Amino acid sequence: MNIILMGPPGAGKGTQAEKIKASYPIPHISTGDMFREAVSNGTPLGMEAKKYMDEGKLVPDEVTIGIVKERLMQPDCASGFLLDGFPRTVVQAEALDQLLAEIGKKLEAAINIQVPDEILIERVTGRVTCKECKTVYHLKFNPPAKENVCDRCGGELVARSDDRGDIVKKRLEVYNEQTNPLIEYYAKTGILYNIDGNRGTEEVFADIKKVLENLG
Ligand SMILES: [Zn+2]
Repeated sequence: MNIILMGPPGAGKGTQAEKIKASYPIPHISTGDMFREAVSNGTPLGMEAKKYMDEGKLVPDEVTIGIVKERLMQPDCASGFLLDGFPRTVVQAEALDQLLAEIGKKLEAAINIQVPDEILIERVTGRVTCKECKTVYHLKFNPPAKENVCDRCGGELVARSDDRGDIVKKRLEVYNEQTNPLIEYYAKTGILYNIDGNRGTEEVFADIKKVLENLG
């Protein structure tokens, strides 16, 4: 079961990844974790990537792809993998197809969790976090009993500066611009599965499960 998981920030991708991991014997491979692992293991590619990250630069594709390849060749990927955060571009998607072919594997599904932008903005902008204990509330969906006060510890609730409406909107624009060609790419190769993410966690997961069960 070789799959990638896509979805804009706030679509519930992390939650669904957890649920997939709990139901199927495949590792959840997020790009962030993979980079951290390669760096802390001190692999040649990890060291190369660290050089760029330390300078605040984007890690070049050939380094990223090399790290992905190393990860996908590890024994825990024998019965499949769930890739999260990679590929981000069509060039990376083509490179992924090629490297999978090299190691005798094939991508079977690109699961794309869809949520309308205006809903995502509403979900994210209502979020406030306790300054003290870091509990997260949502002003509309999960409000604290007393305005601006944490139910748990009485701490002050604050919004993250990057959760502001205009910033979230910009983030989504960038995401859509970058991801739409990728979605088209997977539609063309016939492995795209769009999932309506504007529902409860369990309903969304039930649809993902249906896709995965049909992969055989
Ligand atoms: Zn608190």
